[in-house]
Amino acid sequence: MSKRALITGITGQDGSYLTEYLLGLGYQVWGLVTPRADPRASRIGHLLAEVSLLRGDLTDAESLVAAVDRARPDEVYNLAAMSFVPLSWQQAELAADVNGMGVLRMLEAIRIVSGRDGPPGGAHPGDPRFYQASSSEMFGNAAETPQHEHTPPQPRSPYGAAKAYGHLLTGNYRDALGLYAVSGIMFNHESPRRRPGVARKISLAVARIKLGHQDKLHLDRLDARRDWGYAGDYVRAMHLALQQDRAADYVIGTGRTHSVRDMVRIAFDEVGLDWRDHVTSGSGPEDTVETDLLRADPVRAHSRLGWRPTVSFEELVRMMVDSDLRGLTTERGAAAHPRIAGQVG
Ligand code: NAP
Repeated sequence: MSKRALITGITGQDGSYLTEYLLGLGYQVWGLVTPRADPRASRIGHLLAEVSLLRGDLTDAESLVAAVDRARPDEVYNLAAMSFVPLSWQQAELAADVNGMGVLRMLEAIRIVSGRDGPPGGAHPGDPRFYQASSSEMFGNAAETPQHEHTPPQPRSPYGAAKAYGHLLTGNYRDALGLYAVSGIMFNHESPRRRPGVARKISLAVARIKLGHQDKLHLDRLDARRDWGYAGDYVRAMHLALQQDRAADYVIGTGRTHSVRDMVRIAFDEVGLDWRDHVTSGSGPEDTVETDLLRADPVRAHSRLGWRPTVSFEELVRMMVDSDLRGLTTERGAAAHPRIAGQVG
């Protein structure tokens, strides 16, 4: 019998890579899509014949219970979130509701459908295993660098605070109820399917500049550093984390940081241009990389999961630029990215 997985956020970057990965392993994949989503125009448009989609929303507890009841999953991957950190300052209550309370609703849905209502140790080996997409943003002003599984949360945004709540709650349901619940504390991971943040903004702008559609790219802080990896590698870690004898939390990151300047240099180099001719920098709220000290200590993921990233930073940047260039030069690509292309300044 093939395993069954339920993925929230299936139309997102990670959801689409995880779906491809699990289908490749022979899983039956169920995905939760929001009432507003058009799956055909999403990142899983090419997979619709192979997945079963259910309408639902992390703010709607009943829809989550119905989804778990219908899918009867062996594994639940809670990837849905309001994932753009700066937006969480404009919609702080929504960020708390989706990224924080949404985790609670998902855990409760599993508990309700499994028929386990009493702590402690109420869970059963047949209950679904749960993966929560936690974020290094919860470390914020971290007291130590690099950050590991026991580094205390010190978030600096509504997004980070909500993710910290979801992370702590996942540990509570594991420890108090015996649920197989994993929090994957993921550092930045990108791909050609990423929504525009700093990295995708750069790759899209470089492609547009190469094609003569724009001339300048403005970035806030070129010296800001991040631990950047490739999303395809991170979904492997998610799956591995649910295959272990015991549930635990894992920091998922490369352990190396690069600056925005490094990214810009590689990206322009890929299209044969000198970044210094096109990039301006200076303060501006939209481009701010909020934290400088975030670097993963992925030792536990290495030793217990046998997980290592396979795509280097340089390969990642080149992959994103090449993809955006292809997307903008083909009609199909341009049509597939109207929202994204429209956001590039
Ligand atoms: P993404 O591309 O922005 O995808 C987010 C997904 O969540 C979309 O499918 C979106 O659907 C869905 N969603 C949003 N609000 C929802 C709601 N109220 N109910 C149900 N679904 C909702 O994000 P990603 O980059 O794949 O990230 C996946 C997860 O990892 C997120 O939880 C994110 O916070 C976390 N994470 C990501 C990174 C990173 O660097 N990418 C790092 C650390 C943690 P719609 O499009 O219909 O809104």
